[in-house]
Amino acid sequence: MLLEIQGLGMDFPQGGLFSKSTLRALNDVSLNIAAGEAVALVGESGSGKSTLAKLVAGLQMASRGEIRFNGAPRADAARDDIQMVFQNPFASLNPVHDIRHHLERPLKLYGLNKPGALKELLEKVGLDESYLTRFPHELSGGQRQRVAIARALAPKPKLLLADEPTSMLDVSSRMDILQLLGRLRKETGVGLLFVTHDLAAARWLCDRILVLYAGQVMEMAASDTLLRAPKHPYTQLLLAAATHGVSLETKLPAKPGRANTIDPTPGCPFQNRCLQALSECSHTTPTLVGSEHQVACHLESR
Ligand code: SF4
Repeated sequence: MLLEIQGLGMDFPQGGLFSKSTLRALNDVSLNIAAGEAVALVGESGSGKSTLAKLVAGLQMASRGEIRFNGAPRADAARDDIQMVFQNPFASLNPVHDIRHHLERPLKLYGLNKPGALKELLEKVGLDESYLTRFPHELSGGQRQRVAIARALAPKPKLLLADEPTSMLDVSSRMDILQLLGRLRKETGVGLLFVTHDLAAARWLCDRILVLYAGQVMEMAASDTLLRAPKHPYTQLLLAAATHGVSLETKLPAKPGRANTIDPTPGCPFQNRCLQALSECSHTTPTLVGSEHQVACHLESR
């Protein structure tokens, strides 16, 4: 198994030095990704999906749980094996350096700066050598994201973490970047953890979808299965919102209160928004059940 995540949790202290309040950003998340597999993390803002990607990237240390890569603890993974593409291509490139600098640096760092390596890297992402002397401000958002992807691919990683790589791009560039990621998956065999709030993009690009809410896994299944027959009321709500053109980042209907991610109380984290809530939902936290299609909802055990 390429990536194994077991019981991962992440807490952030809230309210200053002497406060005991805690924001539980992730709680008991488990996920495996096979070599070459693509998995989408889907959820609205604050669901914990970017936190999960950062923990896998090694940018933050988890409060609980374990991450293993290629059978060994994450901390032992080679630095070049896991690379990340960030959401904002306008911030992820250094404005004072040209594109040659951005791409040459990782190649030199990992001893891969052979003749023709830069050209090959640019061609992989649909650019040519004329871009080497340009600066980030001379490129469009889509072109910058292509450079960011090329930089991430430079050390030939086994797993690419893409944190909402299309959310700051215009519609046509979004499709271009999705197609690029799909092609790169096929050509390089790189595994992909794709963070998104776009269900259609998740289905198009990924083998499986994991739905997060308030830092917990609500549902996980093959992409087609999950979108054709969603079982969790939250996934059903997301799908309904997407079908009616409502962004997940806007307020969804039937939302009398937010999930309590601060010092969480017992019960289902989705109970305040669920139209199908049962009496046990307020005091018993549902656990994930199922194998191929996993769901954390008391309705499943009825
Ligand atoms: Fe709704 Fe209860 Fe299922 Fe949570 S466990 S999604 S509140 S029915």
